[in-house]
Amino acid sequence: MSLAFQIMPNCTPLAADERARMLADPVFGRVFTDHMVTVTWTEGQGWHSAAVGPRKPFQLDPACAVLHYAQEIFEGMKAYRLDDGGVGLFRPEQNARRFNTSAKRMAMPTMPEELFLDAVEALVKIDEAWIPTGEGSLYLRPFMFASETFLGVKPASEFIFCVIACPVGAYFKGGKKAVSLWVSDHLNRAGPGGTGAAKCGGNYAASLMAQAEAYEHGCDQVVFLDAVEHRWVDELGGMNIFFLFDDGRMITPPLSGTILPGITRASIIELAKARGVDVREKPYAVDQWRADAQSGKLREVFACGTAAVVTPIGLVKSTSGDWVIGNGDGGSVTDAIKADLVGIQRGRIEGPAGWARRVPLH
Ligand SMILES: *Cc1c(COP(=O)(O)O)cnc(C)c1O
Repeated sequence: MSLAFQIMPNCTPLAADERARMLADPVFGRVFTDHMVTVTWTEGQGWHSAAVGPRKPFQLDPACAVLHYAQEIFEGMKAYRLDDGGVGLFRPEQNARRFNTSAKRMAMPTMPEELFLDAVEALVKIDEAWIPTGEGSLYLRPFMFASETFLGVKPASEFIFCVIACPVGAYFKGGKKAVSLWVSDHLNRAGPGGTGAAKCGGNYAASLMAQAEAYEHGCDQVVFLDAVEHRWVDELGGMNIFFLFDDGRMITPPLSGTILPGITRASIIELAKARGVDVREKPYAVDQWRADAQSGKLREVFACGTAAVVTPIGLVKSTSGDWVIGNGDGGSVTDAIKADLVGIQRGRIEGPAGWARRVPLH
């Protein structure tokens, strides 16, 4: 099921030369396209009023439910300029599916997958000129929030779904290849029975203080441990993590309910298995991590997610000491996994059937 989108092009889009200037080196999340998609859900009526229009601020009552109780979820995906001039999406139906899983956890209405995909494609089509060529891409941010004006605590009776987009280049800047992690051993991102597996804004709010501690310790990112024993590695604030060993094995923490089921994570597992790699989804203890890094058994570690793709981890710092991974600057297996994934996303390498989806432009 989908809806007919009312299309109202922006009458004052950014001039082409201004746009070209902004596309040259966009900072992640600071530059936005000319349009947005909105669809409204109202109790008793369901989804309605699907529209593509000029990007503009929302007008919200100060008692708007999302501002008080954080009933909000989002997705993150990318549109790629293909070598033949077309535009591709990577497994977007997985984002549509996960959006609904998140919606259920947060007591929000689900959305027909077809409507989600139509909304994303409608924005990509109207803002096609904003897709960077070369190694950049157009980051797409579908999200939904409780828009009802009401201070009572309950699932809202009205929600707004919206898609915005921003052209992006590399996520981590500054030239160095591998990033450093701070082990958060007292602040948790998620716990058993909580919302860790839902892509909701609240999880990010809960991660910011630990991220600030990471910066204070000179690290780029924080890595969270399980909330019960503070022993098992969960994930980063917004990326999943993989460990690569000297015997070719790969380990990534299992989807226990406290980590976000990344589409990049699932894709890497599937690709590695197809290439005969022994990939295990199993708990990995932080003490073991340090011991394996020091003995040399652990060769490479990387983080993965849509925004930063595959990012090598070179250094880990914690209250009980620091350790270096391999030579401290990534490794060849991580590079190969990244090249494989990026090649498939950009349609240069044939991936599993259905992973690369072409957006019908005209
Ligand atoms: C979005 C997200 C990821 C990565 O998911 P992808 O689908 O690979 O982009 C990992 N962890 C958290 C907490 C996230 O929000």
